[in-house]
Amino acid sequence: MKKKRILTGDRPTGKLHLGHYVGTLANRVRLQYEYESFFIIADLHMLTTRNAPEDIAQSAENIRDLVLDSLAAGIDPAVATFYIQSAVPEVCELYTFFQNLVTVPRLERLPSLKEMARDANKEEMPFGLLGYPVLQAADILCVRAHLVPVGKDNIAHVEITREIARRFNNLYGEVFPIPEGLIGEVPTLVGIDGQAKMSKSLGNAIFLSDDAQTVRKKVFSMYTDPARIRADIPGRVEGNPVFIYHDTFNPNKEEVEDLKTRYRQGRVGDWEVKEKLARALNQFLEPIRERRAFYENQPGFIEEIIYKGTLRVREEAKATLQAARKAMGLTRVWDKFKLTSSDQRDSH
Ligand code: ATP
Ligand code: MG
Repeated sequence: MKKKRILTGDRPTGKLHLGHYVGTLANRVRLQYEYESFFIIADLHMLTTRNAPEDIAQSAENIRDLVLDSLAAGIDPAVATFYIQSAVPEVCELYTFFQNLVTVPRLERLPSLKEMARDANKEEMPFGLLGYPVLQAADILCVRAHLVPVGKDNIAHVEITREIARRFNNLYGEVFPIPEGLIGEVPTLVGIDGQAKMSKSLGNAIFLSDDAQTVRKKVFSMYTDPARIRADIPGRVEGNPVFIYHDTFNPNKEEVEDLKTRYRQGRVGDWEVKEKLARALNQFLEPIRERRAFYENQPGFIEEIIYKGTLRVREEAKATLQAARKAMGLTRVWDKFKLTSSDQRDSH
């Protein structure tokens, strides 16, 4: 039987961090042999908030880092397909069709888009940003994916995809599967500032590629319980980022319980809690660092993966678009004028 498909990915806006790991990467790694996986490098989505020439130039390096970080996290290049979104123009054609299957108020109600507009200092909602989830629907349905592993901030977008797929199928005929979203073990990991979700662009992230010293420094700068100004004052464990990270990344549950008990009683200093967290995080990151170094030392390897992956997805996308145009009746119109999708523009 043909394997079901996964589509998921990231904007090439920086390196991958612990939030990505628990939100989606862990699921990607876990399911990579059970599903056929497509990892989109969503540079068109990047343009919705960052479209200056410098941002676009910078994305080349970010793209390399994204793939390197994914392989370091355990994605197997032998089974995964990585591709650059902007190099698959069929995605945009599908996006155009889908724009007529969703309303503006439906998109305007999404809190994620308002947050993104605010974070990008946009006073008014850009047209492209409003369309972010619709473009995402085009990505997911272009490869006819069944499962979409994402962080919690993104799950409402998958819901939009489901609505669009259903409407398309009802209106024109069954072309698309109705994909499911899949949230990670920690739906949203808070940043080291304890204020917002960990994010590449907010300066509150521990990156998968950070070295041991950097991780230690970041952990020691972490926000804890602000009411606890001395080690002998009982502290709050719930919602405390240091303990959220301990729960998530420290495999030594006994140690974590002991720290929590003593923290609540005012019998442990922040220093010990953080020292043990830094150690746990570095242990977690060590194999990731080793794999990263392994792939980094193979010149041309990342470029080759992206090149081949993108060509592969172009073929997939062509087939999907052919099916979509046919279902919609567009090809029947084209036929009357002897037009096909592979006609050369410059031929005479
Ligand atoms: P940016 O700041 O550019 O938006 P980001 O760090 O939010 O970057 P994205 O590329 O927007 O990363 O997200 C990629 C995927 O990782 C999405 O599925 C998103 O839901 C998930 N994700 C991102 N940050 C977190 C987090 N802190 N916790 C859980 N999942 C996350
Ligand atoms: Mg984001």
